[in-house]
Amino acid sequence: MITDIQPSEFNNPSLEILISAEKLQMRIQELGAQITRDYVGKDLLLVCVLKGACIFLSDLIRNIDLPLSLDFIAVSSYGGASKSSGEVRILKDLDASLKGKDVLVVEDIVDTGLTLNYLLDIFHRREANSVSVVAFLDKPSRRVRQVDVAYIGFEIPNAFVVGYGLDYAERYRNLPFVGVVKTENP
Ligand code: 5GP
Repeated sequence: MITDIQPSEFNNPSLEILISAEKLQMRIQELGAQITRDYVGKDLLLVCVLKGACIFLSDLIRNIDLPLSLDFIAVSSYGGASKSSGEVRILKDLDASLKGKDVLVVEDIVDTGLTLNYLLDIFHRREANSVSVVAFLDKPSRRVRQVDVAYIGFEIPNAFVVGYGLDYAERYRNLPFVGVVKTENP
């Protein structure tokens, strides 16, 4: 007998769908095709910023028709006063050198731009041949630090979004769409 029926995460009434699964998959196909054209003949290394970008990365690379390699970095932003400095703490660094590589940083969302600004700075110092960024989402209205993002999936308004890798207190990463949390206690 089933005694404890959990509400479905996929049909959660406290979520409003902002970007459907179909729409985001179509956009990722376009991004993959564009990256394929731009990186022909290059030594492409995709650097995934954990954890939020892992779902985007896995769909994106299946739409890039080139030889490529992967690496992963995990960061956490410092809270409080130092947040404004854009300093981030590296929780897990890359496994391999970037020397001579054409690095494409894969981000879930660019918000203030502080995290990306910090990462781009350290990646440039590691002697990569080139460093560019692909971001699944962009919230330009919140930008504090200007960053050059070569490929953007979707520009979104200033709302806290979840799903497709993005979390709220570690929940919702498994949603196949992007949603906005409607209630104060999701
Ligand atoms: P930034 O340094 O650009 O302000 O922060 C980027 C990071 O903040 C993202 O990689 C993501 O982890 C988090 N973030 C920013 N906006 C959102 C949002 O709307 N939803 C979620 N889940 N995370 C966000």
